[in-house]
Amino acid sequence: MGLSRPRTLRCVLQEMKATLTPAAQAYLNRALREGAPRPPSTPGPSDLSIGPLPRRSQQTPHAFTVSRLHEPQPVSFQIAPWKYLYTLTLHTLHAHTLVSCPDTKWRDLLPPLEGEQPRWASLYSTLVPRSVGDISWRLLHGAVSTGVFLTRFTPIPDTCPFCNMRETLAHVYLECARLQPLFRLLMNILLCFWLHFSPHLFIYTLPIYGPTKSQDLLVNLLLALAKTAIYKTREGRLANEASCDCRSIFRSSVHSRIQAEFLWAASTDSLNAFEERWALSEVLCSVTPSGSLHLTL
Ligand SMILES: [Zn+2]
Repeated sequence: MGLSRPRTLRCVLQEMKATLTPAAQAYLNRALREGAPRPPSTPGPSDLSIGPLPRRSQQTPHAFTVSRLHEPQPVSFQIAPWKYLYTLTLHTLHAHTLVSCPDTKWRDLLPPLEGEQPRWASLYSTLVPRSVGDISWRLLHGAVSTGVFLTRFTPIPDTCPFCNMRETLAHVYLECARLQPLFRLLMNILLCFWLHFSPHLFIYTLPIYGPTKSQDLLVNLLLALAKTAIYKTREGRLANEASCDCRSIFRSSVHSRIQAEFLWAASTDSLNAFEERWALSEVLCSVTPSGSLHLTL
């Protein structure tokens, strides 16, 4: 009220009280003595549960559907996490499309071996930059441009810009002859980790767990950088850029990353952690006794 003196405030309240009717004064005195009477309690909203609509019989779910709501259970609407409500809304709106689609187009192009499955969670990790992981994720979904796809909508030919073969998804990322030097390099690197490079490993990536976690993270980063090199050199060739050697681009990106990590480790006095992460078996690099970086890739 902007009043600095309690006496003034008391006088104002007394004058206001004097203007009240006897009934209002009695109510005020009782409220001051006993507390404000509470309004009668009203019943709250009844419990609501929310869940997906039952599927119609003509909808045949794919064996490996992209829908994550395989066997959804109704949950209480009042306490349902917002992520569940978001997923539920999204999947309800697109239920028919989601349950009839496979999770990845590569199940037909490169059928997983027994016990194998796409490692979606391995596409992103602390080592893999977001943009690099996004390309691997799009590739696994088959959501990357190819000549065969683009020729439906644009005047771009459906042939590979490197070898003039028909440019399918498998051709761009597995079969084109220009990829062979890159794949040979990856094969040699992975052999040093006692791993066998294969198209399945390249596309579906490596699960990350157990005592080989550090190595798995590093291998998955290399695979992701290789895919990015293929993606970027193809884009570069279409844009008539000079450097379209995916093996060179891959090596440059690995070198740049290691050098950046080394400089950071040297400035923060954490070379031991650097060696544990990047100099495994000295496959990619090593640190000399004098503390210098030696690239071995
Ligand atoms: Zn080609």
